[in-house]
Amino acid sequence: MLESASLKTLESVLMRLLPKEILISQTLADTLVKELSPWKQCLSSQPDSRFDAQNAHRKLMETFQVATVEGFGNFSEAEIVAGGSILDYIALTQKGKIPTLSPPKQLLSQDHLHIDASTRQSLELQQTLRGEYKGSLLQTIDRTLTAGGGRLLSQRLSNPLTGIESIQARLSSVTWFIQNPSLLESIRSILKNTPDLERVLARLALSRGGPRDLASVREALRSWEMIKNILADTMVEGELARIFTNNFSYQTVIETLDRALDETLPILTREGNFIAPGFHAPLDEVRHLRDEGKKCVIALQSQYAQETQTPSLKIKHNHVLGYYIEITSNHTHKMPEHFIHRQTLANNVRYTTVELGELEGRLSTAGDQALSFELSLFQTLLEIVLQQAQAISQTAKSLSILDVSSSLAILAKEQGYTFPIMDQSRSFVIEKGFHPTVAHSLKTQLTEFTPNNCNLNDDNTFWLITGPNMAGKSTFLRQNALIIILAQMGSYVPALNAHIGVVDKIFSRVGAADDLARGQSTFMVEMVETAAILNQASPQSFVILDEIGRGTSTYDGLSIAWATAEYLHTTNRSRTLFSTHYHELGALKKTLPRLSCHTMKVREWQDKIIFLHEVIPGLADRSYGIHVAELAGIPLAVLKRAKAILSSLEEKKSKITVMKQEEDLPLLNGSYLQKKPSVVETTLKNTEIDTLTPRQALDLLYTLKEQLSD
Ligand code: ADP
Repeated sequence: MLESASLKTLESVLMRLLPKEILISQTLADTLVKELSPWKQCLSSQPDSRFDAQNAHRKLMETFQVATVEGFGNFSEAEIVAGGSILDYIALTQKGKIPTLSPPKQLLSQDHLHIDASTRQSLELQQTLRGEYKGSLLQTIDRTLTAGGGRLLSQRLSNPLTGIESIQARLSSVTWFIQNPSLLESIRSILKNTPDLERVLARLALSRGGPRDLASVREALRSWEMIKNILADTMVEGELARIFTNNFSYQTVIETLDRALDETLPILTREGNFIAPGFHAPLDEVRHLRDEGKKCVIALQSQYAQETQTPSLKIKHNHVLGYYIEITSNHTHKMPEHFIHRQTLANNVRYTTVELGELEGRLSTAGDQALSFELSLFQTLLEIVLQQAQAISQTAKSLSILDVSSSLAILAKEQGYTFPIMDQSRSFVIEKGFHPTVAHSLKTQLTEFTPNNCNLNDDNTFWLITGPNMAGKSTFLRQNALIIILAQMGSYVPALNAHIGVVDKIFSRVGAADDLARGQSTFMVEMVETAAILNQASPQSFVILDEIGRGTSTYDGLSIAWATAEYLHTTNRSRTLFSTHYHELGALKKTLPRLSCHTMKVREWQDKIIFLHEVIPGLADRSYGIHVAELAGIPLAVLKRAKAILSSLEEKKSKITVMKQEEDLPLLNGSYLQKKPSVVETTLKNTEIDTLTPRQALDLLYTLKEQLSD
């Protein structure tokens, strides 16, 4: 995959890919020190000369045996350089060997849901905020059985699509598996025992593989053939239909490997003894000699034991002496003259004889010959496999797709996910949605998750959600963002019903965390992230904003939250879920037509509050902050004092009339957003300057000046 990123999008691309190693030219590494500081560990900077465009082009053409790479896509020079220099680097580090690679493809950002780095982090897609896999969305949804399937699932989750057709193709495959439970089960039982074909093939292509890798290729290809057989008379659907268009049969390769490989196999080729008897006659012959030789050694041992009247006499072998006779020291006087002394140890004495020497010679020649036969047979088998490398690597991908589709079907059945209806509208209608990870972890604590509905559309793009802390606002916001990501990666979604107009970019600002490593305070981080949203979100985007304006003084925070809500509603026009504990924002309902107010249901009981976690229409009347503090175990004395301060503040607030007069404040009525252009601006806009004579231009200038003074 080749993809271009600007400096602005670099961070989000890197967060998506989570690379293990980044190749970079020395000059670029020196220029981007700050941007790349979080990735310091994986930077591998190379001399600039390794990033030469012409060289890169040549390398790509050479590797994929084409006269031009344009057939693969309309690549930018940067992409060509990236592709070519990676090939060069592989050749350098793998001693000239390049694994089987599919031709380069261009990853176009408009084909994928844009998720920026902080959104990715806050939604805890592949890892939690603490950087752990456990507790991430990936862990919650992963039911894959093969390593390749696991990798593909992770890739898809980090890179959801925007094209409805491709999303549908993935979803149809999941549906097909759900509708065919017995086929699902048989295919899963095959996948369970399928080795990691992609990795094994790469090892073999780089000459790092051994006999067990050949057996793994055979097993994976056998799995593929079995699955093909099972599905021979069935119409599969969606992307599955595409993977079965290739009718290529691996039967011959499998049979050859079956005949060639022995049952138990060593890890390393040089250990030998991996070719099955009967596969290669000359090998069988030298093995026979070798085995006969071994029998002769045993016979010789009993002959010597008898001859010397020493039943404990043994013939042994080690790498230094080869074969030798060993006796305990107290028997030395019985040894005949033709025993040649080799070594005296603390308790043992070792000898050899001319006869044993000759036998050893014969044995080792047969052993060497057997090994050299096996090594060359290994090469032959390797070639047979590598001749099909392109097809096998395609099959590896197909197996991963089968694994991902079937595991998403299992997930949907097991967790009650639903098929999302996707279209180009701006609808977002979720009935009884739930947060996959929170619901799952509550289940393990035997607590029920309260499902919630959400309904956004062209006429109601903005939900303002008020309610106390701990009432479930963030969970609600995140669950809806996750539903979109799951749907667009081609998965069923955690809800009873879902209708989603495809989203182009998703933004989430949830919870604040200091980015001390970069010297940014909580509030600064919050503002940078909010700025990114306001500058990028489009009417097709989806935004979740949680508790904006929290890290500063109350009025500052309220004003920022207010203005941000207005801008998102009126200028960005994105579908937005906006949670806040400033219930004063409810006044926006009067000025923003597409905004509706929602709140979290709480029940008060004996001066305590109970969170019902249900989103209902309406506005919270207060923040319940002190109640939450009580739940957290703040000492009674502090709570009492806080309550007293609160009532005195509330009294004063009613005297300061700011909050009562929201609509009169220029900030609060949002008038700056709908500012009409002036007459001068309109005249200027409508003037074709190139068609004016100098005289007309001068006249126009006078008119404009006059209009200005009006
Ligand atoms: P808030 O954002 O309002 O402070 P959170 O979303 O962080 O609240 O939720 C607080 C806790 O409430 C969560 O950790 C979770 O255990 C529980 N919770 C949230 N939503 C639900 C729900 N729909 N059903 C059951 N429990 C929930």
